[in-house]
Amino acid sequence: MKVCPEGLYVEPGGFYVDPLRPVERAVVTHGHSDHARPGHAHVLATAGTLAIMRQRLGEGAGAATQTLDYGEAIRIGDVTVRLVPAGHVLGSAQVVLEHAGTRVVVSGDYKRRFDRTCAPFEPVPCDVFITEATFGLPVFRHPPDLGEIDKLLHSLSIFPERSHVVGAYALGKCQRVISLLRAAGYDRPIYLHGALEPICKLYESFGVPLGELRPATVAAKEELKGALVLAPPGAVADRWARRLTDPVVAMASGWMRVRQRARQRGVELPLVISDHADWDELVQTLDEVAAPEVWVTHGREEALVHHATQRGIRARALALVGFEEEGA
Ligand SMILES: [Zn+2]
Ligand SMILES: [Zn+2]
Repeated sequence: MKVCPEGLYVEPGGFYVDPLRPVERAVVTHGHSDHARPGHAHVLATAGTLAIMRQRLGEGAGAATQTLDYGEAIRIGDVTVRLVPAGHVLGSAQVVLEHAGTRVVVSGDYKRRFDRTCAPFEPVPCDVFITEATFGLPVFRHPPDLGEIDKLLHSLSIFPERSHVVGAYALGKCQRVISLLRAAGYDRPIYLHGALEPICKLYESFGVPLGELRPATVAAKEELKGALVLAPPGAVADRWARRLTDPVVAMASGWMRVRQRARQRGVELPLVISDHADWDELVQTLDEVAAPEVWVTHGREEALVHHATQRGIRARALALVGFEEEGA
């Protein structure tokens, strides 16, 4: 494995994982824009990821695409490749690579919390584990997600006249918030900003039930009083949200743990709901995969490298330039 300007290169297989620049052959972990870039000649991914890429990138999704189901193995060059659920968003996968008796797992982005909108993360014991570290600091401990949803429902009950607009990333977070609301028993229609509709439809087409969804753009102002409205994070603070009646502005993000971020964005009701592993989940995952060697990328590498080293793991920060978490 080599870190090239294009991204992580698997030499004996002649392919890249989540390459940043157009390449001949790519394996893509999931549909977020920092992993699924346009313009590759050949893309291998799960059906969910390919559907997301086609919706977001059109022709750019890849000149040739190939679906690989979870658990199915194929041979590329001298490498056996398997995709295993990462629990991050619909279709998200860890890439399990085997070559000459060594197993390397590229986890992509992942989380360990129960999420009915995607298949749960499966720890795969390996020799080298490549982990993300978006929330790789001990201060990041995500609270239980249903507790955060309760805060939202409580606010709705005490401000029944006010619209509640929740900022949520279009891919993954939006559907998870809806699914959590349904799990908490909220069965009224949920209103969507136009930018969120296509991916919600895609999730439904993959068998993820989201209940009754209505477009917020055409809904009468009166109808949105006391209603729940989901919008992309960028839209909640601008004029779009101000059309609503005295809205309560909420935001669902792991970054809402940082109060200053919430304040900066004018968020009245921060909801700490993340699709990335928090510190405890990162540490738990290192324990479960029991890899003697760990490469840390994609976020706050130093603390996790330090933690792993103390436990006798050979650990290093893997500098992958160009990764900027989608929406962050
Ligand atoms: Zn992601
Ligand atoms: Zn990412």
